[in-house]
Amino acid sequence: MAEATLIRGGTVVTADEERCADVLVVGEAVAAVGVDLPAPSGAAILDAGGAYVMPGGIDPHVHMELPFMGTVSADDFLSGTACAAAGGTTTIIDFVIPAPQQSLLEAHRLWRERARKATADYAFHVAVTWWSEQVFEEMGVLCRDHGVNSFKHFMAYRNAIMVDDATLIASFSRARDLGAICLVHAENGDLVHRLQQETFDRGIHGPEGHPISRPPEVEGEAANRACQIAAMVGVPLYVVHTSCRQAMEAIARAKLAGHRVFGESLVQHLVIDDSVYRDPDWRRAAHHVMSPPFRSPDHQQALWGGLQGGTIEVIGTDHCTFRTEQKALGTHDFRRIPNGTGGLEERMSVLWHHGVGTGRLTPREFVAATSANAARIFNIHPRKGTIAPGSDADLVVWDPSATRTLGSGSHHSRNDFSIFEGMRVAGAAAITMSRGRVLWRDGALDACEGHGRCVERPCFTDYARSQTRRNTHFAPTAVEREEFVP
Ligand SMILES: [Zn+2]
Repeated sequence: MAEATLIRGGTVVTADEERCADVLVVGEAVAAVGVDLPAPSGAAILDAGGAYVMPGGIDPHVHMELPFMGTVSADDFLSGTACAAAGGTTTIIDFVIPAPQQSLLEAHRLWRERARKATADYAFHVAVTWWSEQVFEEMGVLCRDHGVNSFKHFMAYRNAIMVDDATLIASFSRARDLGAICLVHAENGDLVHRLQQETFDRGIHGPEGHPISRPPEVEGEAANRACQIAAMVGVPLYVVHTSCRQAMEAIARAKLAGHRVFGESLVQHLVIDDSVYRDPDWRRAAHHVMSPPFRSPDHQQALWGGLQGGTIEVIGTDHCTFRTEQKALGTHDFRRIPNGTGGLEERMSVLWHHGVGTGRLTPREFVAATSANAARIFNIHPRKGTIAPGSDADLVVWDPSATRTLGSGSHHSRNDFSIFEGMRVAGAAAITMSRGRVLWRDGALDACEGHGRCVERPCFTDYARSQTRRNTHFAPTAVEREEFVP
């Protein structure tokens, strides 16, 4: 018999229920959930008394060792997944970002290679950064042979990875026919480009120029455009890092009209506001440069409301860390400061403290936002995102009373800075288990290089069928018409 572990005496919380139960893990999977389960002989016993037992977190938005803005993000797949484990997260979804003209398959191979050292499980979205017959074909190969069911599109970063509307439409249509979901980074890249130039020419060269060049309208416009194009094409859409009321309203309108649009916000945007850019310390301000930028407190309130009301389904991090010497690339020009912040290790504690601890969220809603919804949206549920017989034993024993002071002195990221420095939070992972293996216990990390596996994510045959039926703007292909006529 494979190695067994009995997690005893905890309160099991999934997105669907909360109950006192034991969890029996055999090998890499959950074998049973129930009251007073007998321990098989030789089983390890973990005491979860007074704690919650939850599905391990899923962060569907991270960037490990990403070549970006003239450098490479500091956390790699090993340090990144170690951060994840220390914070209760057991699965990450990273982004393969091919350079324009680069083969999607070749880029995918490269990212797969980099990810081999991960200690926790991972999957990939693939970005469409250019368009051709080759890209069209390779999207199909990725879906069919490599377990990719999601394609990302950058509407910003002009002259780099930004795509225009024609590419969006072509790629969205292709994804729809494949039964894949589309993701967008929603900022109007042309507006950003112009505002950056104007801001710089006015003599504003420091990090304070960053938010000035990316106001909420820039994000709201792009989010709305993406939602409307996705609705017309008939493809499900996931809007990453929604940071402002304007973008959230675009998502809410699309949802009200019956479209499959999902909203993600970052935990950072829920708790940090734009006053950070007025910090006289260049280093501290530069470490907060990310896109979209931090917003004023009224936008934060709107995001909390969106999360509570269901416009925002997922809380991710966009974990993409750059050390001080990397941020220094933009010492004389805010446009050259590598964009990104960390948060993977802190995500669950910060959301628990500010969400559950304040009564904004129930523990079940917390599990939905940190794990279950991402599993459903990206089609790995119930293997991930829940605790049930047969599910991967990706579990976190969550101690709601444990307190932690966040900061770069204690985090596992390679970054030399934490945007959460000094924040005191209640609620932390006591034990994190990845497919039956304990990676984190009582403050000690036991990262195991290469333990993580790539999680293949099948396409959505049901979405493809129903979107094809209800789509009125773009004719389905002949094959679909035959196959799916009601
Ligand atoms: Zn990102």
